[in-house]
Amino acid sequence: MRQSHLFTKTRKEAPADETAKDAQLLIKAGYVNKEMAGVYSYLPLGMRVLQRIENIVREEMDAIGGQEIVMATLHPSEPWKQTGAWDMVDVLFKIQSRTEKEYAMGQSEEEIVTPIAQTYITSYKDLPKAIYQIGNKYRDELRAKSGVMRGREFRMKDMYSFHASQEDFDTFYAISKTAYLKVFERCGLTAKATEASGGSFTQKLSYEFMVLTDAGEDDIVYCDTCTHCANVEVSDQKAGEQCKRCGKGTLATAKASEVGNIFDLGTRYTKAFDFKVKDAQGKELFPIMGCFGIGTTRLVGVIAEALSDAKGLVWPAAVAPFAAHLVLIDGKDENIRKDADALYETLTKQGVSVLYDDRADVSAGEKFKDADLLGMPWRIVISARTIAAGQLECVKRSTGETFAVNESDLIKTIAA
Ligand code: ATP
Ligand code: MG
Repeated sequence: MRQSHLFTKTRKEAPADETAKDAQLLIKAGYVNKEMAGVYSYLPLGMRVLQRIENIVREEMDAIGGQEIVMATLHPSEPWKQTGAWDMVDVLFKIQSRTEKEYAMGQSEEEIVTPIAQTYITSYKDLPKAIYQIGNKYRDELRAKSGVMRGREFRMKDMYSFHASQEDFDTFYAISKTAYLKVFERCGLTAKATEASGGSFTQKLSYEFMVLTDAGEDDIVYCDTCTHCANVEVSDQKAGEQCKRCGKGTLATAKASEVGNIFDLGTRYTKAFDFKVKDAQGKELFPIMGCFGIGTTRLVGVIAEALSDAKGLVWPAAVAPFAAHLVLIDGKDENIRKDADALYETLTKQGVSVLYDDRADVSAGEKFKDADLLGMPWRIVISARTIAAGQLECVKRSTGETFAVNESDLIKTIAA
């Protein structure tokens, strides 16, 4: 994409009321626009990041047998009243229409997915099944001060699974845990699976997937040697103590952000909707249900915050809006501009996604500053100097390393 066509521009300042670092960076770089506390619009660059994250999530959920659907976000009140959540879930947005009918905005979708599953799952032979969606959620969060990491409107992948036995659930639970760790790794993050209490959903333990970042709202205790990690709320050990799990490491505390979690819901929802099927012996059973969430817009914020530096955003290649930022300097010289145009066409034809800074009236200094703020993994500079040298200048955003590269080696270099 030509940057001269991009309708967003970098901004000098984020709004004064925006105190979260992730949102400040994303707003200054033109990735998101703040509508009000906890509500953001995603602009072309931000939408590309979000879509790439959601595609990674989609691929990993499909790989473990998830089937994607799109559920309504405007909900009837009846199923919410049936499960008791209408009065119990404090973040639920409730709407009254002009006919005085009441609705709920989806904050999670057990109340919708369970009746859908009930319609089609009529025998133990139909189990197990895993159904998921990636969509908007609405929560009346009291504090929305963490930028896109805590929205009142935000996006989540929510998957729900149904099983004939606890054993079958446990098997899928372990598979999903591995898939989750893969999602976060592909997004360029290191997530730790913590044991936490199941909150309002269940008495059983659940896993929360935590990414260490100073902007996180959770406190965790983790071992510096093994994978042991727990939310401080449920940890029986403190920082400085020897890890009971491995007996070797020492425990430390850190701020972390919860990017996903998986719960054993048991039969809570299937019982609430009287959803039962017959087993092989003809005996009735309530399917065991699991729910599996990943905050996709929160991931945008966590990656933005955790991987950024003083100059701006630093996107990992797997989620970057573009693989490379081609920066034309000395573009007043028609020959240099022609060379840069040709390189842009060639790279695009070869399937490399390129943001091409072809802007005519912007200084080199400003272009470099913008490129650092926007955070594409590679900057490729074409200028009078690089043309004279017969080599392009490639700068790796994450390390600042500079390479002089022949055009024929360019793709190989930026793929590394
Ligand atoms: P938190 O403790 O952060 O409020 P939660 O336990 O309420 O999270 P779930 O209801 O299980 O979260 O939602 C699944 C995932 O959705 C979370 O792991 C998180 O990544 C994301 N998420 C939850 N609330 C928000 C929010 N207000 N804004 C953005 N993402 C969110
Ligand atoms: Mg919450």
